[in-house]
Amino acid sequence: MNLCPLCQTNLADKKNSHIIPKFLGKPLFKNIKPGNIFQVNKSGKTRKIQDIPKQDFLICTVCEKRMEILETYFAKKLVSINDYNNRKDKFKIIKIGPNEILNCLDIDPLLFKLFYFSIIWRVSVTSNSSFKNFKLPIKIESEIGSFLNDNLFSSHKNLLKNLSLIKSYPKYHLIVYKNKEAKSLFSGILTAFRMSEDHFGIFTSDMILFFYLNDNKIDYLSELISNKEDGKVKFVLTNSNQWKDINLAVIEHRLLNNKYK
Ligand SMILES: [Zn+2]
Repeated sequence: MNLCPLCQTNLADKKNSHIIPKFLGKPLFKNIKPGNIFQVNKSGKTRKIQDIPKQDFLICTVCEKRMEILETYFAKKLVSINDYNNRKDKFKIIKIGPNEILNCLDIDPLLFKLFYFSIIWRVSVTSNSSFKNFKLPIKIESEIGSFLNDNLFSSHKNLLKNLSLIKSYPKYHLIVYKNKEAKSLFSGILTAFRMSEDHFGIFTSDMILFFYLNDNKIDYLSELISNKEDGKVKFVLTNSNQWKDINLAVIEHRLLNNKYK
């Protein structure tokens, strides 16, 4: 057994770790007969799967617990985000260029950073074949890992208490897309891969995360909708058709054009 790559102290003893939080993948399996979900690999071959990808011995039990505390919090927040129309005190919709942006007034930006970095980090460190086209440069993977290791706690109380003590965090652009129609026919796809030299994507049933390595490669409008700075947490809202189009464009990109596959 290897050392846990997060705390680098305990053995990576946890079995069945989800790589992407369950609540961001499970809806893909809802209302569909078991055995009717297919995974498509890079050469276009399909294989039936029963559940979202998991891995044994990815991290240790203690670190799994620390991540679980954060995920439980965001699983609840997602319920609230999906109901933003009825919670006007917690969300504000603004326009930035052609984009409709959901500003989350009661989600702590640092907590959100911990959440999305925890997903990005796991997808990068896993050896699960579903995510083998998503590997961050080692320096960035360890920068994000240290940030998580320093600021994740085994209790909700300590996690929140620590937020005011965080002095710095890894500064990368992250743009999150969200389907504003929670009950659309097309749920999405579950995949993650490097889309170009500086650009990574993680696709789940409820959010699409785009992560950028290099500041210079992002245009001005994208900067305004990014979650790099310490401002309000922003989601770019799409309608069902746009959501489907982004997902389908990605499948096409992945199968046909992606030299990083
Ligand atoms: Zn650990």
